[in-house]
Amino acid sequence: MVKAIKVMLIPNNVQKTKMFQYAGASRFAYNWALAREKENYEKGGKFISDSELRKEFTKLRHSEEYAWLLNISNNVTKQAIKDACTAYKNFFKGLQKFPRFKSKKRSMPKFYQDNVKIQFSNTHVKFEGFSSSRKANKQKMNWVRLAEHGRIPTDVKYMNPRISFDGLKVKKLEKQKRRLQRSISRSYEKNKKGESYCKTNNVIKKEKLLLKRNHRLTNIRKNYLNQTISEIVNRKPRFICIEDLNVSGMMENRHLSKAVQEQGFFWFRKQLEHKCGDKGIQLIVADRFYPSSKLCSCCGNIKKDLKLSDRVYRCACGNIIDRDFQASINLKAYGERFAS
Ligand SMILES: [Zn+2]
Repeated sequence: MVKAIKVMLIPNNVQKTKMFQYAGASRFAYNWALAREKENYEKGGKFISDSELRKEFTKLRHSEEYAWLLNISNNVTKQAIKDACTAYKNFFKGLQKFPRFKSKKRSMPKFYQDNVKIQFSNTHVKFEGFSSSRKANKQKMNWVRLAEHGRIPTDVKYMNPRISFDGLKVKKLEKQKRRLQRSISRSYEKNKKGESYCKTNNVIKKEKLLLKRNHRLTNIRKNYLNQTISEIVNRKPRFICIEDLNVSGMMENRHLSKAVQEQGFFWFRKQLEHKCGDKGIQLIVADRFYPSSKLCSCCGNIKKDLKLSDRVYRCACGNIIDRDFQASINLKAYGERFAS
């Protein structure tokens, strides 16, 4: 069975720098490969295989001008070249548009890790080549902290691991937004005359900018929620069971909380209803008082004093389980009763 898992990493500053270097090298190799293919085609040449391009790239790595590439794990650029070739091939098969060159501004920074060399512990993930020193304290550099412990099984094979800098844009935009808000409120204070105030051109300009930032943030969040919905719906389940508008329950999901706060669960549910309607999937909404998190999925006991901070549910019957996972088991059981 193949399962896709997305987890958050918490790199320290040195690791972060290293990751951006990897992502930069990945983008460079991708663009380089694409440019080589394009150039070759314009000269009337055929498709250059990725193994050939990789050989060329190895030579490039060892040239003086591109010495910086030697600090990057070979597997990162190798995969980027492979990706570029696949995209190029797909274009000729009519499967996609001509692949775009990746830009530093537009494209999300991301890179690949070798699936054989990647390792997981319950708390950390090991990267290849962050530190090549054999000293134990330097070797630690290769281990990046995971936000959630024990999410990824440690005794399995991994396929196609990718690291992307998600949410980076959001954080930046939120910072800009807060700064603008502060600056605007300061200007209002300053221009206050008794009960009234005068709106300067500067304030008008800033307010326009703030509106723009808000739009952008809204779009990013909606896009994220839409992608989530698509992922669920495209698996063509028999039914989908969700909780009734229980925002506090949704807040427990740390990945969604921000989006839920600012976007509203309503929007998510409306959108889900639409999609389910389109695809003929039954949407079941659990009763508002259904204790999806507090119910033991083994013995049916209800743990009334379950706190938000209890990420793991421990029942007297011996059942020990991730609370979110258990809630989803319970919602599934609830849905089974009403599925037609
Ligand atoms: Zn139990």
